[in-house]
Amino acid sequence: MRDFSYVRADSIEAARKATALPGAMLLAGGTTLVDLAKCGVAQPETVVDITHLKGLDTISVDAGRATLGALAKMSHVADHAGIKSHFPAVSEALWQAASAQLRNMATVGGNLMQRTRCPYFRDPSNFSACNKREPGSGCSAIGGVTRGHAVLGTSQACIAMYPGDLATALVAFDATVHLGQRVLKVDDFFQLPGDTPEREHDIRAGEMITAIEIPGSAAARRSTYLKVRDRQSYEFAAASAAVGLELEADGRTIRDLRVALGGVATKPWRARAVEEALKGKVLDEDTVRKASGLAMEGAVDHGANHYKIELAPRVVARAILKLGETA
Ligand code: FAD
Ligand code: SF4
Repeated sequence: MRDFSYVRADSIEAARKATALPGAMLLAGGTTLVDLAKCGVAQPETVVDITHLKGLDTISVDAGRATLGALAKMSHVADHAGIKSHFPAVSEALWQAASAQLRNMATVGGNLMQRTRCPYFRDPSNFSACNKREPGSGCSAIGGVTRGHAVLGTSQACIAMYPGDLATALVAFDATVHLGQRVLKVDDFFQLPGDTPEREHDIRAGEMITAIEIPGSAAARRSTYLKVRDRQSYEFAAASAAVGLELEADGRTIRDLRVALGGVATKPWRARAVEEALKGKVLDEDTVRKASGLAMEGAVDHGANHYKIELAPRVVARAILKLGETA
């Protein structure tokens, strides 16, 4: 049992100030924080409760953009009529994330901040070597059981897979995250492990996520999120793809394509090589399948996770072809 202080923030400003205290952590839905505290990974000295902050749970959508307050519940965003019609991939990513109970508790801000499910990271009592938890201690996963680990964006220090679904869809559609004074592309908000795997997000002391903004586009309107996982009821992705498609007036030629991958990389992974290879091409199965292979450029496996290199391009191709059928 560890003691910690509890602060109930009554304004965004107060919450920001409180998060600047050493060892402070925000409490939103609590579905990650409590888990991490139980397994000994999170050891907050102060828990800053932001659940009662007014105005942070709003969802506003029009053809131009969606703005999601950080405290909007995953289930509310998934079920929002505007999100379903203007950003179906975002709605589908959320529906396929976690379980109904978790989605009803968890917030979209907390979702972006969730941490890896690497089992070595989450088991400090049995595995002391984890560079993400204890910088410089080594990596128990390299040379260990790697079935769920990343094949893209890895480093010598860490091969942990980024587990979230929502961020994968956000990266495909150039969403931004609002941190108070700073606004960052979601793609830049997530960090590659490099030599500092303990730094997963570009967020500074005294900052918190206040909102997520997603620009509208024709590709976002015709979009989907395809998630392949070991168990259908609820499970993290073995490989997933957020795809958006815009066709020319001929109904066959690709004008705009967005592809981002989940379940295979150390951060949500935009597959620009696939997008560039297919823009201007006629959408047919052979062309799509060939180009989808480019999603795995630079992939490195660690034995048991080799299957992801085979699986992910098929998921990408299936998602693009599915959207093509609806044209
Ligand atoms: P909290 O637990 O309250 O906070 C999480 C972290 O974010 C904490 O470090 C907290 O300090 C920080 N934080 C919270 N709000 C903010 C903010 N506004 N600004 C800055 N920092 C903040 N996710 C998926 O995407 N796909 C899945 O398939 C999936 N499956 C799951 C299965 C299980 C069994 C569980 C337990 C979780 C699963 N999740 C999955 C993760 C789940 O979606 C997250 O736990 C949830 O989204 C976190 O949101 P929360 O509001 O509960 O965050
Ligand atoms: Fe830790 Fe990363 Fe290695 Fe997992 S893969 S044990 S999170 S350093």
